[in-house]
Amino acid sequence: MSPLTRYVIGLGANLGDARSTLRHAVQSLLGLEHAGGGARCSVSALYRTEPVGGPPQPEYLNAAVGLCLSTPPAAVLLSLMSIERGAGRVRAERWGARTLDLDMLWIEGIAVDSPELTVPHPRLQHRAFALVPLLDVAPDATDPGTGEAYAEVARRVGNAGVLRVADSGWHLP
Ligand code: ATP
Ligand code: CA
Ligand code: CA
Repeated sequence: MSPLTRYVIGLGANLGDARSTLRHAVQSLLGLEHAGGGARCSVSALYRTEPVGGPPQPEYLNAAVGLCLSTPPAAVLLSLMSIERGAGRVRAERWGARTLDLDMLWIEGIAVDSPELTVPHPRLQHRAFALVPLLDVAPDATDPGTGEAYAEVARRVGNAGVLRVADSGWHLP
């Protein structure tokens, strides 16, 4: 079997029952790991965050899931899109409100730059709402290009507009 690689997926939702959508998405992501033979998943706290960019829209719920997969990045992206579609995601206005957004934030030691996929996520460095949950599940994560620790990037960016929800409600086994 191919070796396992650590991925961090960022989750966001601000339309419909965002909390329930994220709970189901977390379960779907853990299912990917199961199918891929991994066993070292972790789930971040749940955060309420202020929208950044795009039109005026409701606040977001954000989280991150760490997965160890033997699946290549392009195939993982297809799985993320399929989970988004299952949650009723419609792509309309750029950065507009959405039922579910799954972004591949980081892959350990790997950079991807293709027309469909850029990893690390090109805006990760500027987004407290992505960095804070990423560090919950991968506190040791570093930029594969520069080697800089994301903990250091997060210190620069700060955590304004990112509030931890006391009870994530993940109901993990
Ligand atoms: P942002 O990229 O700023 O977070 P967004 O999540 O709203 O914005 P989407 O409409 O969800 O953007 O995605 C647009 C395209 O981005 C997708 O079709 C996908 O092919 C591409 N993409 C590139 N890199 C990534 C990545 N790391 N994770 C997820 N999608 C990516
Ligand atoms: Ca996004
Ligand atoms: Ca996205």
